[in-house]
Order: sequence, then structure tokens, then C-alpha cells
Amino acid sequence: MSEGMSAARRRIRWIGPAAVAVGLTLGWAAGLGQGRTSLIAVIFFLAVNWIPGEADSPGMLGLICLCLGGLMGCGLGAIAGDPRLPLFLISVTLFHLTEFTFCVLFHEKDIEFRAFLLTPVPAAGYSVAIVAAMAEFWVRCALGGFALPGLRTAEVVLGASLAFAGWALRTAALFTAQSNFTHLVASQKESGHRLVREGVYSLCRHPGYVGWFVWSVSTQILLGNILCFFAYAWVSWRFFAGRIPHEEEMLVRFFGDEYLEYAREVPAGIPNASQLA
Ligand code: SAH
Repeated sequence: MSEGMSAARRRIRWIGPAAVAVGLTLGWAAGLGQGRTSLIAVIFFLAVNWIPGEADSPGMLGLICLCLGGLMGCGLGAIAGDPRLPLFLISVTLFHLTEFTFCVLFHEKDIEFRAFLLTPVPAAGYSVAIVAAMAEFWVRCALGGFALPGLRTAEVVLGASLAFAGWALRTAALFTAQSNFTHLVASQKESGHRLVREGVYSLCRHPGYVGWFVWSVSTQILLGNILCFFAYAWVSWRFFAGRIPHEEEMLVRFFGDEYLEYAREVPAGIPNASQLA
């Protein structure tokens, strides 16, 4: 990579936080309310599918930071009254901003649109999931809502705390594994790649995936969505059950007995997904 290119990429280190701060302020001050905020969120999550994964101009990346900060600000501004949808948007935008921040800090050559993980699967699958969650929520509200008031509070407290815990676990995994953690499963061992066994990696072998799983399913508890709760659980489990065997096969190839011993001592974390233990 040329000097100029890498300097341009590094500029995101200040453009990003500044854009998030401006977005937060504008979103919060706009006072759009939950209906219009949802509409903007739907447009954003659909529109991102047209952005190429390799887009890496600081302007484009800054714009995405601005939008995510803006949506988070809209959520914060609309949190009084019914906090469910605002907390959902805050938790989703926080998640994507964290993923991008991680790449900026530990994978400088991968600072591109893909790093936000806004389009992690083909065929706009992730956007469809986010839009479906908001649609189920709004349809239920239009039908008068099914939850009893007491149950709703329990859902909000349980859903929000578990979603936060899931995000925290994934974030801990990202910052523990650092450059060893990659959004794409490595099929060649990089020279600096070492086996991480400490911190959250001593609790389970896939804390990043467990964190994602808990986070995604808990956002549906928070919204009180029954259909999306089961759909998210099933789709997330399928995704990791497909990914973990391949990832572990590579890890055994990279680290041999060291990984097999680790697998004997520490559980995978995602049930029935590993072929090791
Ligand atoms: N499955 C892990 C990491 C996900 S990132 C988690 O859920 O936290 C995927 C990359 O992490 C893969 O390229 C794999 O080679 C690497 N990886 C997974 N576990 C690792 C470990 N314990 N130490 C080092 N690298 C690991």
C-alpha cells in the first residue's frame, strides 16, 4: 500500500469519531420521534446494500459513521415513553460502530465499508433481518400490542441487559484477540497469528460468536418479537454451526495439538456447532 493511501485510511481515526459526534447531536436534536426514526432506519439498512464492500474513501466511511451516530442520536432523543425501539437502534448502531472501530485499530489494511459488518451475508440477508424486526414490532403495536404492561417492563430490562452483555462479550473478544480476530475466517496462517487462550477465551473458544448470538437474540426479547426471536436464534445458530467446523479445521492446521488440547479444556460456547468437543 502506498504512503498516501495509508495516510488517507488513517484519517478516519479522527473523521470517524467526529462524524459520530455530529450525527449523535443532529439525531438527538432533530426530535424525529419513533415513527420517522424507524423509517429512516429502514431506508439506511436497505441502502447500505448498494455500497461496495471495498469502498474505502474517508468521505464514504465518515458518512456511514455520521448515519450510525445519527440513528443512535435519534434513538436517544426518542427514548422517553416507550424505550423499546430506541434501545434496539442504540444497541444495533453501537454494535456496528464497535466493529468498525476494532478494524481501524487492529486491521488498518481492512479499513473499508465491509468492516462495519452492515452487510455480512449475501442477498441483503442482514438488512432483511433488521427490517423484519422493526416490521414485527410495528405490526404488533398497530394491533394493540400483546404484552401485559408488567411483562413489557420485564422484556425491556431482560432484553436490554442481555443485549448489552452480548455486545460486551463480543467486544471483549475483539479486544482480547486483537489482530488474531478477523471478520473473514483465515485460511492461511499469518506470521503474527498466535493462539489466544486468555481472558474471555478461557471461558469458551468462540466468545465473539457467543456474544453476537446473545446480542442478536436479546434484541428481539427487548422488542418483544416472538417470530423474529425464533428466526434470529435459528439463523444465527445455523450460521455459526456452518462456520465453526471450518474455522476449527484451519485452527488445528495452524496450531496442531495446541488447539486440540485447548478444545479439550474449554467448551466451544455454541451448542452442537463444533466437531471437536
Ligand atoms: N471464533 C472466535 C474468533 C472469530 S474471528 C470467536 O468467536 O471469538 C475468526 C478468526 O479468528 C479466524 O480466522 C480464526 O483463525 C481466528 N481464531 C479463532 N479462535 C482463535 C483463537 N483462540 N486464537 C487465535 N485465533 C483464533
